Amino acid sequence: KLHNEVQELKGNIRVYCRIRPFLRGQKEKQSVVEYIGENGELIIVNPSKQGKEGRRSFKFNKVYNPAATQADVYSDIQPLIQSVLDGYNVCIFAYGQTGSGKTYTMTISDLHITCIWLTVFLDLHTLGIVSAPQPNGLSVPEASMHTVNKTSDVLNLMDIGLRNRARGSTAMNERSSRSHSVVTIHVRGMDIKSGSSMRSSLHLVDLAGSERVDRSEVTGDRLKEAQHINKSLSALGDVIYALAQKNAHVPYRNSKLTQVLQTSLGGQAKTLMFVQLNPEVGSHSETTSTLKFAERAS
Ligand code: ADP
Ligand code: MG
Repeated sequence: KLHNEVQELKGNIRVYCRIRPFLRGQKEKQSVVEYIGENGELIIVNPSKQGKEGRRSFKFNKVYNPAATQADVYSDIQPLIQSVLDGYNVCIFAYGQTGSGKTYTMTISDLHITCIWLTVFLDLHTLGIVSAPQPNGLSVPEASMHTVNKTSDVLNLMDIGLRNRARGSTAMNERSSRSHSVVTIHVRGMDIKSGSSMRSSLHLVDLAGSERVDRSEVTGDRLKEAQHINKSLSALGDVIYALAQKNAHVPYRNSKLTQVLQTSLGGQAKTLMFVQLNPEVGSHSETTSTLKFAERAS
């Protein structure tokens, strides 16, 4: 209970940590995660250091066991989806290095249970649900907006979005690791009880990979791109930190990403960040910096 109150004070930001399992075909190796507590505690072990020194603990609102299913995750976010229907703006992020399961967590189209909540969405209100961000009158040239009437329309749009993201690149994962993907569902409806009109939005944000790029390995456009990504991720971190600290000034204007998401970050809006971890020991240093980023938000 106390923890919930603290969350309220912190401006409705919650952080859930998800560790992807070792993949099929991957040798079952020692995991970088040593301990997962029921209360959101997590201990990471640095394989090159012995004893206490090699261990570091973090605490979030929730930590999933690698065996957690999509259904487990979606049942946890159900209340947030309900909040969208209640008129709140909601933003759900996935943050983590490439290969840590961001897209896996954020991809809802392969899950039936999800179709059910989207259907519920559509049945409760007669709405235009629209894809693509367009808040604050900000123009986003890459974005497009579509009115949809049924669940399959939403899923089709998300598929098209995924395909667009993959275009112009040999490997989709390479492309997606260098871009943020934002799907926004705008809800326009009527509160059935009071008769007043309501509008809210749900942002689903699959962030670019958070890995640091070695300056010696990339040059030119790739380096610029990497610096741009780092800048927008750290701007996002600064915004979430300012909100968590209840600072009077929230630096939304430092990146386009935070400008686009501004109406869904802070104020009455509810924010959930999935911190995605790769379990491999070799990722220890990326995992630690991912966790430090997330720690600032919680
Ligand atoms: P990212 O988007 O962070 O680069 P992906 O979502 O593409 O990472 O995940 C990398 C790989 O791991 C994919 O093959 C994906 O299917 C798999 N994967 C990620 N999370 C899970 C999970 N919880 N359970 C099973 N497989 C997963
Ligand atoms: Mg991805």
